[in-house]
Amino acid sequence: MRIGALALQGDFREHLLTLRRLGVDAIEVRTSEELETLDGLVIPGGESTAIGRLARIYDLIDPLRSAISTGLPVLGTCAGLIFLAAATTGPEQPQLGVLDVVVERNAFGRQVDSFEADLDVAGFTDRVHAVFIRAPWINKIGSTVETLASVVEPGGEESHPVFVRQGNILATSFHPELTEDTRIHELLLEVC
Ligand code: GLN
Repeated sequence: MRIGALALQGDFREHLLTLRRLGVDAIEVRTSEELETLDGLVIPGGESTAIGRLARIYDLIDPLRSAISTGLPVLGTCAGLIFLAAATTGPEQPQLGVLDVVVERNAFGRQVDSFEADLDVAGFTDRVHAVFIRAPWINKIGSTVETLASVVEPGGEESHPVFVRQGNILATSFHPELTEDTRIHELLLEVC
């Protein structure tokens, strides 16, 4: 099985390491030709505006959109979730719009408000230790999107989805590639 990591900006190398640990043929993806060879794709964390602008420059927006909307399994983490989403609560930025959610960028605060938490995830027996770095949360979620994990707003009461699935699309606002736990990448392989 061949899985690509979109390698325009962000921590794609960590995803490739995790995927290789799972025995997958994992490659860096920067062209639509490379995209066509894949069974699945990871869109890493980083800076969603940089990923979006570079995807435009590399002419990848339409190929990504059509591959994902015709069923290519994809896992977006953090900035990857933002790039997949329909919109953000902030100013417009390049997005694929394939995942029916509205995200709030940097929702937990600035870099110094980055944190780790143990999350209950639907379908997993043990909790997931999740690393949140200038993470977004989901503000609005479409009816076809399933929430797999949520976090309660710090100092508040409202809970926000941080791990969702819409058919072939998985997205987390945290970084599963930064821990030893490979279950979320394994879920992507199952979808593939
Ligand atoms: N704050 C970044 C953004 O809005 C995402 C951070 C991350 O991917 N760790 O794009």
